[in-house]
Amino acid sequence: MDSIRELINKLEKCHILSREELCFLIDNIGQEDEAYLYDRARRTALAHYGNAIYVRGLMEFTNHCKNDCYYCGIRRGNPNLTRYRLKEEQIMDCCREGYELGFRTFVLQGGEDPWYTDDKIACLVKGIKSMYPDCAVTLSVGEKEYETYKMWFDAGADRYLLRHETADPCHYARLHPNQMSSEHRKQCLKDLKAIGFQTGCGIMVGSPFQTTAHIAEDMEFMYELQPQMVGIGPFIPHHDTPFRDKAPGTLRQTLLLLAMVRLMLPSVLLPATTALGTIDPAGREKGVMAGANVVMPNLSPLEVRKSYMLYDNKISTGSEAASNIKELKERMEKIGYRVVTDRGDFKRI
Ligand code: SAH
Repeated sequence: MDSIRELINKLEKCHILSREELCFLIDNIGQEDEAYLYDRARRTALAHYGNAIYVRGLMEFTNHCKNDCYYCGIRRGNPNLTRYRLKEEQIMDCCREGYELGFRTFVLQGGEDPWYTDDKIACLVKGIKSMYPDCAVTLSVGEKEYETYKMWFDAGADRYLLRHETADPCHYARLHPNQMSSEHRKQCLKDLKAIGFQTGCGIMVGSPFQTTAHIAEDMEFMYELQPQMVGIGPFIPHHDTPFRDKAPGTLRQTLLLLAMVRLMLPSVLLPATTALGTIDPAGREKGVMAGANVVMPNLSPLEVRKSYMLYDNKISTGSEAASNIKELKERMEKIGYRVVTDRGDFKRI
């Protein structure tokens, strides 16, 4: 086996390593090589996107969900939650506010809420796109069939985020009830890509029962899929879920993964996620220094934000709030980056 340094160089040059090499790298990297990995990842992001940080206005428009994922605070089985859904007018108000603040991508994320039928979502997308034709719309509303995704794409949706959560079917089955399958989730991602969406997959780092081999498998899956976006954040337990007593993922492991994904998929759009900002007050900055180039501040109305608690202590104020974009800009400037106002589409060079 090559030394850690050689493996990092190989990942940068060839973009993929064998499963054994990936595992060896993840399990054996020490502090000095970590600094080297972050530096290579950051340089890769700079080479592809310069020092631009893309922002997305995140609207968590419903916390109703028909699924019962064991890790998630808005799972169906959590009775201790005020359920809400935003009306179309409220969503349009959020868009107006976001547009004025400079956002040119709107992300509609929610639980899998049957009240929001496929047609209603298509209407919503059409409404936003006709009002803001210069903006990108990203959907993140879970698993659907090909026809539905196609209808939403035809309605004008540009991007879709659907984390695969874990590529290993056995691990998947330990995070989700029987009704859900890793196979279907992966099929959704293939469909989304085939339809033409800029597609995002991703995982939680340190999710219960996750092993290094699982992470290596996730990397292989991402390499095969070649997504335009990858969402990676630490798992954080929620007190009203079956995983309440599980250990959270660590900052270190999350940064390691972000940097490795940057080297594997050099031009990927890679957010420094809210979960990363939740486990460390400087998590966003650290994520950017490890190769991330996107942040997704919260555009939801203040009164519903505390009800979209996917995990405990999820942050939604300060520079996490879209209304405080100024603070986010300042924080990014301090580390040599600039928040840009454009759609921030995927670029391949
Ligand atoms: N219903 C949509 C959106 C889910 S919420 C969908 O299925 O895609 C978005 C992401 O939050 C999930 O994909 C999951 O990876 C992450 N998430 C959920 N619970 C979490 C937790 N306890 N800790 C960290 N991330 C979590």
